[in-house]
Amino acid sequence: MNIILLGPPGAGKGTQAKRLEEKHKLIQLSTGDMLRAAVASGSELGKKAKEIMDAGNLVPDDLMIAMIADRIDQPDCANGFILDGFPRTTPQAEALDRMLADKGLKLHSVVEMKVQDEVLVGRITGRYTCAACGAGYHDEFQKPKVEGVCDNCGSTEFKRRSDDNAETVRSRLAAYHAQTAPILPYYEGKGILKAVDGMAGIDEVAEQIEDALGAA
Ligand code: ADP
Ligand code: ADP
Ligand code: ZN
Repeated sequence: MNIILLGPPGAGKGTQAKRLEEKHKLIQLSTGDMLRAAVASGSELGKKAKEIMDAGNLVPDDLMIAMIADRIDQPDCANGFILDGFPRTTPQAEALDRMLADKGLKLHSVVEMKVQDEVLVGRITGRYTCAACGAGYHDEFQKPKVEGVCDNCGSTEFKRRSDDNAETVRSRLAAYHAQTAPILPYYEGKGILKAVDGMAGIDEVAEQIEDALGAA
């Protein structure tokens, strides 16, 4: 099963992708995570991407398409994947269709996670992750069971993304509305778009996604 989670920054794509990964034995492909790894490694791609990401703009399509094409060729993707953060533009969506067709693969569903902009700002500015295992948390909505200790791995080190600040969020939301939301009708036309209420609690959203996938 190959799925796309589509939604604005802070909609809960990463949170739900992690759950789907475990439940359905799929691989999460987060282009944001891949880009942050490239930035951290100081690669050519990372150097090109860093400023663009810090400004809250989108990295050019050709770079993103090449990155995903490479990734879905890896053997661990053969059992199915969850795309989190890709595609984000019409050219990316079209390139993905070509890649999948070439491999004889298809998309099971595109799950749209709907969340109001005002809520997203609070989600993003309160977001942090475990520095050791990457588990996601939130200052208010998803605290570790023991304060300051990761539920998943016990680490006491956490980090925040440099682009998760109130100013950059505005540009990222604008990019979503201008460049990403227009691909929704593309998938609707293919009959594979399923919307869920991303404003609901994390468990409730997970249930809605399961229903949406089951009904596909
Ligand atoms: P969020 O989870 O908040 O939606 P991501 O981690 O997916 O953010 O992406 C972080 C940044 O990485 C984006 O603001 C953008 O600059 C870049 N990026 C990630 N995926 C893509 C993509 N598919 N196309 C262009 N830029 C991307
Ligand atoms: P995305 O990958 O779409 O940018 P994340 O999954 O990183 O979004 O979620 C953004 C922040 O909001 C995280 O801190 C996460 O813990 C929190 N969060 C995710 N889903 C929900 C939800 N349904 N209700 C409240 N907070 C949520
Ligand atoms: Zn951890």
